[in-house]
Amino acid sequence: MRKKTTLGIMGGTFNPIHHGHLVAAEVIRDEFGLDRVLFVPSGKPPHKYDNEIALPEHRWMMTVLATDSNAYFSASSVEIKRKGQSYTRDTIIELKKSCGETTKCYFITGADAIAEISTWHKTEDLSRLATFMAVSRPGYKLTIDKIDPRFRNCTHLIEIPALAISSTDIRKRLREGKTIKYLVPEVVEKYIYKNHLYQAKTTKAA
Ligand code: ATP
Ligand code: MG
Repeated sequence: MRKKTTLGIMGGTFNPIHHGHLVAAEVIRDEFGLDRVLFVPSGKPPHKYDNEIALPEHRWMMTVLATDSNAYFSASSVEIKRKGQSYTRDTIIELKKSCGETTKCYFITGADAIAEISTWHKTEDLSRLATFMAVSRPGYKLTIDKIDPRFRNCTHLIEIPALAISSTDIRKRLREGKTIKYLVPEVVEKYIYKNHLYQAKTTKAA
């Protein structure tokens, strides 16, 4: 009998993508022997009301660039292409359709995001659609009591190497003209500077 295809799904705003995201996905892929991991940048994130969110096409390009050097990784534009708000459930269903209905999905999420799962919309059949891989993240406690009881049976808690990196901090550093070297892949760093993303706007003298 053929082995079921196993697919990791790493969702995020990726504003911008950084080494914290990449290490989380790679450790889960390796430890659980996943066939591949898809990085899915969100279109219009339902949880974020941030006016400094880069255009979807920039977040998409940075995700493509960052995942290119890992043969197991690729980027998916399902959420970017979808009109309106994106919900994890719809994304998993769509990915299952394109990868084959028998594909086993592992949704990778950080300790902060998994603790908010009960605030997500359309969660009724989520536990049937995927297994949730909740990874540790500096600054957030990863314990089963933090997870909605409805999802405890389908959630694994996994300790990964601690990288205290966040997109919020990277954007702040860029606004302040500080280095972001080694926090993001070099290709992403170059893309950010080339496209003047997140940096303080220079106002022309009158
Ligand atoms: P922001 O600060 O803008 O919220 P972020 O760094 O949290 O950005 P997201 O795109 O919001 O990045 O996160 C996508 C997923 O990656 C989430 O599940 C989040 O918990 C997880 N994640 C982000 N950074 C890390 C990290 N350093 N270690 C482990 N998981 C992380
Ligand atoms: Mg976040």
